Amino acid sequence: MSSAPIAANQLDVILRNVADGITAQRPDGSLAYANDAAARLLGLQSGEELIGLPGAGLVQRFLILREDGAPMQPDELPNRRALSSKQPEEGVVGYRLLPDGDERWSFVRSTPILSDTGEAELVINVIHDVTADRVARERARLVDETGAVFAASIDTDATFDALAALLVPRFADYCIVDMIDEGPLRQVVITHRDPERERLLRELRRRYPPNENAAHPVSQVLETGRPYLVEDAREAELVRAAVDEEHLDLYRQLEATSYIVVPLAARGRLLGTISLGTGESRRQFTPADLSLAHELARRAALAIDNALLFEAAQQSYAQLNTLLVSAPVGIGFWDRDLRFVRVNDALAAINGLAPEEHVGRELGEIIGELAPVLVPLYRRVLATGEPVVHTESTSDAALQMGERRHWLSSYYPVHTADGEVIGIGAVIMEITDRKRADDRLRLLAEAGELFSSSLEQDEIASRIAQVGVPRLADTCNVYVVREGVLARVACVAADPAVQPVLESLPSAFALRGETGQVANVFERGEPLLLRTVSSDYLDELERLGAARKAFERIGTQSLMLVPIVARAETLGILTLGSRVADRFDEHDLDLAQELASRAGVAMENARLVGELRRRAQAAQALEFVGDGVFLVGRDGVILLWNPAAARITGRSESEIVGFRAENVLGDWPLGQGERPQTFPVEGPEGELWLSLTAAEFPHGTVYAFRDLTEERAVEQLKSDFVSTVSHELRTPLAAIYGAAMTLQRADVQLNDAQEAGMLEVIAGESERLARIVNDILLASRLDSGAATVEISSTDATDLARGVLAAAEAHLPHNIELALVAPEPAPQVAADPDGLRQVLVNLVENAIKYSPEGGRVELELARSNGRVRFAVRDGGLGIPASEHERIFEKFFRLDPNLSRGVGGTGLGLYISREIVRRMGGRIRVDSEPGRGSTFSFELPLA
Ligand code: ADP
Repeated sequence: MSSAPIAANQLDVILRNVADGITAQRPDGSLAYANDAAARLLGLQSGEELIGLPGAGLVQRFLILREDGAPMQPDELPNRRALSSKQPEEGVVGYRLLPDGDERWSFVRSTPILSDTGEAELVINVIHDVTADRVARERARLVDETGAVFAASIDTDATFDALAALLVPRFADYCIVDMIDEGPLRQVVITHRDPERERLLRELRRRYPPNENAAHPVSQVLETGRPYLVEDAREAELVRAAVDEEHLDLYRQLEATSYIVVPLAARGRLLGTISLGTGESRRQFTPADLSLAHELARRAALAIDNALLFEAAQQSYAQLNTLLVSAPVGIGFWDRDLRFVRVNDALAAINGLAPEEHVGRELGEIIGELAPVLVPLYRRVLATGEPVVHTESTSDAALQMGERRHWLSSYYPVHTADGEVIGIGAVIMEITDRKRADDRLRLLAEAGELFSSSLEQDEIASRIAQVGVPRLADTCNVYVVREGVLARVACVAADPAVQPVLESLPSAFALRGETGQVANVFERGEPLLLRTVSSDYLDELERLGAARKAFERIGTQSLMLVPIVARAETLGILTLGSRVADRFDEHDLDLAQELASRAGVAMENARLVGELRRRAQAAQALEFVGDGVFLVGRDGVILLWNPAAARITGRSESEIVGFRAENVLGDWPLGQGERPQTFPVEGPEGELWLSLTAAEFPHGTVYAFRDLTEERAVEQLKSDFVSTVSHELRTPLAAIYGAAMTLQRADVQLNDAQEAGMLEVIAGESERLARIVNDILLASRLDSGAATVEISSTDATDLARGVLAAAEAHLPHNIELALVAPEPAPQVAADPDGLRQVLVNLVENAIKYSPEGGRVELELARSNGRVRFAVRDGGLGIPASEHERIFEKFFRLDPNLSRGVGGTGLGLYISREIVRRMGGRIRVDSEPGRGSTFSFELPLA
């Protein structure tokens, strides 16, 4: 300052251009001076602008922070302190600019300018911007602190909790960590500096989970794997990410300012995301913040990944250990000197020692007998470094009686990480049971096949013997119960020399009342295992009739006797003998029993098939009987419906069998006891009359029925005849009787005319009587075939004219008769009497059934070498349904349809029969109310 003083305007230029902010403040807080740099620090453009602001306005623009980030009291500001201390004061001051939250940090040095009286007139503040420094330091600290958190991390969730605690509110106002575990996104952390907003955040996440919204920043980061920064998270960005109005509304309530989502990725794998946001602080994240967050996320992911790996390694080690200890296969490790390093429980059990007793001992010490086989094998694995897999070994040594054990083993070299072979591992599995089961299965499968291919009991018995010898035993006998004795049906010896001896033994044992071991097998169905054949047993055999000598020659030392059982019934006994003592154990006995039981089933099947065949024959008979037969089970379901039943009723087996009787035979009188029932049912051609009998049997009821329709029709016919004839005869007889009585009376004087009238009645009615009787006789002669016709050349016209002339004699006044005949008169080949009778019948009917009168026409016409006769009337007519039946004997239309006109119902029957005998066929063409035409054709003569 030795040079000349600077002019005020020069000073202003200098101060305006220095990088540090400089202000001069009066004791009341108002600014006397501020350069542009100071204004910029507070978010303004120029010093003038800053000076112009009222004091209160200034304070409203920012929040003053202490170095530790907490709000600073105005008195703590260096300028205030300088005012009161009257000495230079300095300190770090933070300004969080409102409303956007931008933070700036300054190092402020305040120097008071004292008046002559020692009062502070002004304070000069020199404000040096340390924001960049501070941010760098803050970040370094954050990174350091998170580092400590991650280093201690073994639990993912706790690590993220700690991380979030470090970041909120220092770095962000809220923090969410999402992890992709196995399933969907899992929200590990969700925290907000404001508990109210935290609730809002949770609500937002619950209702609109990111994984259901592809536009959500978290989804985007998970998809791209790249960090995501939204510097201004207001409006546009919210609208982009919101799913609907409500979502948007919730977002707005959150009042987020800025937003970052960074991926949690380790070893190329995305583990999740960290989302950080600002709100209250109004801070806006910058790209530098994004890279810091990204870095933190990277470290976090690494730490988590390590923790996971560690956990997995620990777990798999624990699992391996558990597996090793409890594996159902033997596992062992040996060092290069073939000393046991470790064995698991299963291997220890195989060796018959505790696991720890193995450690440090040599292979040979533990498995002496197997060492000669195994030691070279172990050495080979060590030398070649090649595994030996699946070698089978069988041990007879250390075996309990008859127990041969089998193992399946694999041996492999144990390497260090650099490939050095440091020992041997082995997996040893005992397969004794499996081998035994395999053998059993094979034997049984074979037996099953053999047995089931025969349906003869003896054949099955001899097959059992073949299966048993020699694989299971040296000798085998099969005995079957036949008529109260146990008869031998098969015997086989492996040694051909023994076969005759075996056969020389008694071939039957009477077992009734016997006691002893053999009897027990049979009576109780209990198997017997003789590990060694005792003399007791030989005594028993002797008692049963077997020569002891012979048995000794066969040389059986051990023996199994098993019952052949089927459906809880003992069918016989199977014996299996060995010339070796202790040859059989419980397993063999089981197998023998299994074999016997299969044989039992096969024998029982053979018996059943025999039975079935017999039954099938019985069933076949049912196929052929003429009577309908059906079975109804106890449950009401029809089990059988024979062909006759189907034929008679017209209902096939398929529509009856398997259905409940009440549903398909509902109108049948079933369940009415064993008395025969006669009843009508609907048959294939009209009504059927059936006679049904029932018989109970253990499984239901068998019904038989026969068709009585025809018998019934005959009965009907007989009764129809009696009633018709008696009625038809009574009328003329009464008339004749009356007339004759009148004539006889002496007291009544009749004149000639009256007398002639009476005589006419007698003659007429007698004739009618004669006709009825004639008709009846003729009908019965036609029936029996006694009536014949004699064909001759007949003048049809002449004959027709005669018929009409005769009819004229008693013609009702309202009837007109007409003959239509071709010229010249045709000659037909006919029986003249028969033809006359037919025409008389038809013409009489035509007249009779025209009660209203009208024209009756007899027409003759030639056609194709024949003459067609037709009798036509305009009378009552006949319904189509009766066109066939009117030709039946005694059939008459319902009196309502024929207006009560009398008759025997024989006329059309006789006519049809006569025409048929002359080689023609009579037919009717008629409709009720439209008259009828009866016609037939006869050949020209
Ligand atoms: P019947 O002695 O009752 O006349 P038929 O055998 O001649 O006996 O005739 C049988 C039935 O056929 C008659 O009872 C009657 O109902 C009916 N029939 C026969 N001819 C005629 C006809 N021309 N018009 C209407 N019904 C007839």
